[in-house]
Amino acid sequence: MAASNFKVIVVGGGPVGLIAAHALHHAGIDFVVLEARDSVVLDQGASLILTAPSIRVLHQLGLWERLSEIGVEMNRSTSFTRDGSVFWDNTAVFHTLKANFGMAPFIFHRAQLISVLYNELPSDAKAHYHLNKKIMSMDVSKEKDSVEVTCTDGSTFQGSIVLGADGVHSKTRTLMRNLALSQDTPPDWKEAAEPFSTEYRCLWSSFPIPAEVEQGYATDTQSKDMSVMFLAGKERGWIFLYKRIAPSEASTATTKPEKATRARWTESDMRTFAMQFAEFPVTETLKVKDVYEARLNEGMADLEEGILKRWSWGRVVLAGDACHKFTPNAGRGLNNGIQDVVALCNGLHEMLNSKQGISPDEAALNKVFSEYQAIRSEPLKSDYKQSRFLSRMHAWRNMQYYIMARYIISCEWLVMLMLKFSASGLLKEALVLNYILADEPFSAPIKWKHPLVAKEDSHK
Ligand SMILES: Cc1cc2nc3c(=O)[nH]c(=O)nc-3n(C[C@H](O)[C@H](O)[C@H](O)COP(=O)(O)OP(=O)(O)OC[C@H]3O[C@@H](n4cnc5c(N)ncnc54)[C@H](O)[C@@H]3O)c2cc1C
Repeated sequence: MAASNFKVIVVGGGPVGLIAAHALHHAGIDFVVLEARDSVVLDQGASLILTAPSIRVLHQLGLWERLSEIGVEMNRSTSFTRDGSVFWDNTAVFHTLKANFGMAPFIFHRAQLISVLYNELPSDAKAHYHLNKKIMSMDVSKEKDSVEVTCTDGSTFQGSIVLGADGVHSKTRTLMRNLALSQDTPPDWKEAAEPFSTEYRCLWSSFPIPAEVEQGYATDTQSKDMSVMFLAGKERGWIFLYKRIAPSEASTATTKPEKATRARWTESDMRTFAMQFAEFPVTETLKVKDVYEARLNEGMADLEEGILKRWSWGRVVLAGDACHKFTPNAGRGLNNGIQDVVALCNGLHEMLNSKQGISPDEAALNKVFSEYQAIRSEPLKSDYKQSRFLSRMHAWRNMQYYIMARYIISCEWLVMLMLKFSASGLLKEALVLNYILADEPFSAPIKWKHPLVAKEDSHK
């Protein structure tokens, strides 16, 4: 039994906050989710690709059946140069993933995924999700063993810990740092207030999937300092236009930035950016300009990159983009956010069970938080390196990356070898929620390091 008076304040009701809500609910841990926006689902984002480890966790949470109806499995990828020459066209990678793991990665429409994550919360858990709650300050009470957050509307919430799942510009991260540094003997905090760096800008846009394009198809178009990715989902397609930016350009816009570190672009800014890619191919027959003109939405961001050195302090802990940020080329951001939730909730669940109803002190919390960060450290570093590498390889950052792109990573037998000995090995280690019994969602030969335990096997 979890400590009945233990409560988690989850800041941010994006995908990581919502998955944390499901995981905490299953753990029997009280929580509240505070979301700054006025609606759960905003159709401003792009697609999200989820791999087998994430799908196993979503299956444990009872979400996979519904999600499988809105996602589509990847089945083919092609690489072009900007003049339309094809130098990679492959189905074998996806066939191998499916043969080994039971599934190839799934493409989701982000807004639909978030909608399912919210709608599938049981009604008592849904009642703990609050909109229009933008946190602005945080106070830790030593006497009461609690933490209190205050939102911009003046409302306050008290809990045992704060879980900051409020994204790359995390307010929780800033407040945690300020609290730590305001101590009489402040900890050695090596992190800058803005811990991430930026080298690429990305515009994403969605459009109705053209009739001639098969669902699950993915392409990339590579050239010096500019690259394009295209994804065909179930009903929509997406393009991602990447451009390397000079350090002086990062996080500024032709319009006045909302804050020094957050750029906001007008439609005209985005169109000007997109038109630099107009003639880039996205399929054998379509160019960027063809699909961009049919766009349903678009967004643009400077792509922060980095992993925080310190994820927690006192009663505050971070997860998802708040503590690590990757370029989206490899589709690893949310997949890692889900693994964060799993590692943290396993730790909290175990600690609260061992405490038998006694509220944990900061030392006990610190142990759980440190173990959580340590467990996540190696897989994160590996995915971070992979994401960095892919962004720079697609945009031929220098001669080395160009050679990798054109002659090494486009060599099928080499890619299959890497898949066998490196990538698959890491995927196998993925965590699952220790406290939820469930069958494996796919029958596959893979030997997971953490196999799911089915209800009928739990008594053996
Ligand atoms: C173009 C693009 C494509 C991507 N594709 C993939 C992919 O295919 N696969 C993948 O795994 N990842 C992908 N990612 C990364 C993925 O989108 C992120 O890793 C993921 O959204 C992180 O989720 P999060 O909940 O941590 O943060 P966010 O999604 O940023 O959500 C944070 C939430 O916190 C709220 N919030 C912010 N401040 C406050 C505050 N002060 N108070 C209360 N609430 C607050 C926000 O409103 C928001 O709802 C992609 C990213 C981009 C940009």
